[in-house]
Amino acid sequence: MTMDGIVFKIKKYALHDGPGIRTTVFFKGCPLRCWWCHNPEGQRFEPEHIPFKATAGLAGRTEIAGRRWTVAALMSEIEKDRIFYDESGGGATFSGGEPLAQPEFLGAMLDECRRREIHTAVDTSGYAPPEVIRAVLAKADLVLYDLKLMDDESHRRYTGVGNRRILENLQILDGLAPEIVLRIPLMPGINDDAEQVERMAQFARGLNHVRQVDLLPFHAIADGKYQRLKMENRMAGVKSPTRQDCEKVGAQFAAAGLAVSYGG
Ligand code: SF4
Repeated sequence: MTMDGIVFKIKKYALHDGPGIRTTVFFKGCPLRCWWCHNPEGQRFEPEHIPFKATAGLAGRTEIAGRRWTVAALMSEIEKDRIFYDESGGGATFSGGEPLAQPEFLGAMLDECRRREIHTAVDTSGYAPPEVIRAVLAKADLVLYDLKLMDDESHRRYTGVGNRRILENLQILDGLAPEIVLRIPLMPGINDDAEQVERMAQFARGLNHVRQVDLLPFHAIADGKYQRLKMENRMAGVKSPTRQDCEKVGAQFAAAGLAVSYGG
């Protein structure tokens, strides 16, 4: 059987998706609908035509987000930059969308990378059945795991799903002992107040394999994509947190004994 999956972007020479120089593969499809999503073209599961902006003579033309890749074809693409991975301590990162929503394809990619001694990272919301965490996510060398909000109701409001499964899965993953980096998107007025941050810091502190916490300040960079997709941008007009705001949050995580990095 030829295994394949749907990917909507491949980013070469990525520097913020794990250690060293990496190739980041964006899987299409995500069960969440975060207000702040920077990749709305990765949310729907099927390939889609996205109209260009009606400028520069491109009116009426579209580009396709999402195409099928076999494991063999995607591995050849990843292999092209092996020299950079070897020299920088890099590798391949699987992101999205939600890579765990295509578990067989992701599992096959992780197995193949391991066989070829390519370091792997998976960037995930953690929203998946627990058996996928055990059988697939545990194969990654490094997991970049999002922590967004500790309050179930707020999580449901801002992402479309509750957080119970996500928090339980993080505890399961921690018991399987891969390296974990927690990624926390900092959303002004949503999850950056001292109480929310303290709850996240205390939860993170109770885990054994968190190497570091990445604080990812919100930036309004996706507005054009929302317009092209005819989707509502619910963060329109929200300003990015200042360096000072980020450092205040960072200090709370540091006080809980966690290593903090800004910007991923
Ligand atoms: S989990 Fe990630 S890809 Fe999915 S909607 Fe949220 S920000 Fe977007």
